[in-house]
Amino acid sequence: MGRTALSSHQTISGTDNSPPAAQIHRLLRQHWSEARLLRLHDIGKTAARLGTPAYLVGGCVRDLLQNHPAPDTDLAIEGDVRAVAEACTAQLSGMRCTYHPQFGTAILEYPDGFRLDLARCRVEHYPAPAALPEVRPGDIVADLARRDFTINAMAISLDPGSFGGFLDPHGGRTDLQHGLLRVLHPLSFVDDPTRMLRGLRFAVRFHLRLEPGTHVLLKTALARDIFARLSGARLWRELKYVLELDDLAGVFEKLDAWQLWPLLRPVPPEPGTLLSSMQRGRQEITWFHRHFPGEKLFDTSVLLTLIWRHIPWAEAEKRLHCWPVADGHHILRDLQLLSEVSEDLAKATRPSTVAQLWASLSLPGILALLAEHPESDAVAETGRHYLLKQRGLKSPLSGRDLQAMGLAPGPQLGKVLRRLYEAHLDGEIEDKETARQWLIRQGILPSIQP
Ligand code: ATP
Ligand code: MG
Repeated sequence: MGRTALSSHQTISGTDNSPPAAQIHRLLRQHWSEARLLRLHDIGKTAARLGTPAYLVGGCVRDLLQNHPAPDTDLAIEGDVRAVAEACTAQLSGMRCTYHPQFGTAILEYPDGFRLDLARCRVEHYPAPAALPEVRPGDIVADLARRDFTINAMAISLDPGSFGGFLDPHGGRTDLQHGLLRVLHPLSFVDDPTRMLRGLRFAVRFHLRLEPGTHVLLKTALARDIFARLSGARLWRELKYVLELDDLAGVFEKLDAWQLWPLLRPVPPEPGTLLSSMQRGRQEITWFHRHFPGEKLFDTSVLLTLIWRHIPWAEAEKRLHCWPVADGHHILRDLQLLSEVSEDLAKATRPSTVAQLWASLSLPGILALLAEHPESDAVAETGRHYLLKQRGLKSPLSGRDLQAMGLAPGPQLGKVLRRLYEAHLDGEIEDKETARQWLIRQGILPSIQP
């Protein structure tokens, strides 16, 4: 880390020599619309009138400095969030305000859909490693000091007297310029280990590397087995975000370099193998969504299945036992079946046998198995054929039809229905008439029917 932190309200530095506020104004004008800036000016004025200064904070400041579009706009208020939100809402018709008293946060939604997230500036205290923090109101300096990384601990004042004033007490701008990810204090990862995974996301998205002191702190926290103290729900939420990143190669590289693989599997994967099957998995997911728009699929389940495919089953079970993965029980069942299904598919020739093998897997399991085969491979072709054609196939005769033909209800009827369905899959029957003839040929119906 090696910085004397908190030279409060530090100005921006770098190659641009224009005065900080002017530089921020230029960036704001360059990247944000006139209408959006006007709204920020209005909020700044309203907040100042109430004696509760407002600041742009976090990701949107970081993204502005990097010329990236900001997905969300966060405001920190030094005081009563509700009062500011309600005063802003009163000024404009059609504006919606949602206040969350339990978090002291508010969401302002403008008639055109533009949204601002307001939170009260706060001080955080971590009563125990990896526990949730105790929170009390604070000022903007304290609020920036509770944050995860220097690049996320910058603010822009919205106060009418100092609009565009840049607060960078931890040197986030310089770190951004040097591509460095740096925590704010030595216990940061111990207080909140999810920051390692948040950091990994930022490092991959913005091509950052760990500042050497921060890397030491990460290793120290890992040596304390800090993740063992974190709830499964918090861990899984962050891992899910990581698995959703576009740049999977970048994710793998960082998981290796930061020694975070044990969170996902006991040993790091063979170089290249898992990465390429997961990249293929992504292609299969895209293929599926293209062909079945609107059908529900847990994309990350496909990736988890691939991650756990060739490790002891108990390792996957241990993790799913603690993580709230929506269809975890399907993943575990697929992991038990996949090797056998894969072997049997390589031998199977009858379409009905092939279809039933695919049908024994859940949707993510099917896509995971497809991902393990080259796109043009014969097994992959049968899998796609199953999804596109066979999965929705219905037998031309129902149980009711069979009873109308004189078959008695009971287990025997179920067996006949299953055989009919298989014959349909094998192309031996096409419609009610060919099905009736097939039943006669099988001796199930008499050749002359009453
Ligand atoms: P993104 O573009 O992914 O939304 P972001 O920086 O806005 O990036 P958020 O998760 O939206 O990330 O959080 C907003 C801000 O809240 C962060 O920039 C950071 O300052 C702070 N923050 C969020 N989570 C933590 C955490 N676990 N510890 C400390 N600060 C955090
Ligand atoms: Mg954000």
